[in-house]
Amino acid sequence: MSTESRVAIVTGGARGIGAAVAQRLAKEGHAVAVVDLDESSCEDTVTRITKDGGHALAVGADVGNTEAAQAAVDRVADVLGPPTILVNNAGVTRDNLLFKMTEQDWDTVMNVHLRGTFLMTRAAQAHMTKAKWGRIVNLSSTSALGNRGQSNYSAAKAGLQGLTKTLAIELGKFGVTANAIAPGFIATEMTKATAERVGVPWEDYKKNVAAQIPVARVGVPEDIANAVAFFVSEDSGYVSGQVIYVAGGPKA
Ligand code: NAP
Repeated sequence: MSTESRVAIVTGGARGIGAAVAQRLAKEGHAVAVVDLDESSCEDTVTRITKDGGHALAVGADVGNTEAAQAAVDRVADVLGPPTILVNNAGVTRDNLLFKMTEQDWDTVMNVHLRGTFLMTRAAQAHMTKAKWGRIVNLSSTSALGNRGQSNYSAAKAGLQGLTKTLAIELGKFGVTANAIAPGFIATEMTKATAERVGVPWEDYKKNVAAQIPVARVGVPEDIANAVAFFVSEDSGYVSGQVIYVAGGPKA
């Protein structure tokens, strides 16, 4: 694959999938802005990238906040150069059955996933359209197809798929592609918290999940980073508006 050094932003890059994506993009030769709620929490990822000879910047921002999202993109452009790769990965869960779900549970999830992706993308696309090149990757989920206890999260992740397709339609003529990745179960702090919430030891929880997955294992953050690397590559310019399920099998 041909490679060219670009400036990338990875939201929620302090840990989990975002950290693996940030490290992978740095390995591909891109300068990477690691964005997360708390700037100091990004330092681990930045240090790992720098130790491996890569170039990274820690940026603290709540992606759901209009001013913070714009300021984060402005800072990246000032320090690293115009960002032309954006991975909207920041996420939270507030799971509950519908009858117990509060408005705050609903709003929190919508705010990070949908509003955060909208705000970061609106700010970053200005640089991409100017450069006549860009790659946007949004993290959806198999939960977009429906998942008990996740009416808020499922709605947000399905919404992201619609947003992705519309971005592909609007931005294609500027050389910008937009695609979504819908992971199945990936072992991270997010899924570990779910195991804790339902009171199942983490190793047992993963084993039970793996038994339902055709490739007979749970996913790891690097599985998602591999898919991101494909979508953001120079050679993927004719792939846009797609949703790829990275779930170890054909069914979500
Ligand atoms: P994670 O370990 O919980 O990491 C998410 C990161 O996003 C955290 O560092 C978190 O910061 C950050 N974040 C939360 N709200 C933010 C905000 N408003 N602004 C900036 N950063 C924020 O989650 P993960 O498992 O790596 O998941 C990454 C993405 O993949 C999410 O969008 C998730 O929905 C999606 N996904 C995950 C799975 C899975 O099985 N793990 C499956 C399907 C989809 P704090 O630590 O400070 O909260």
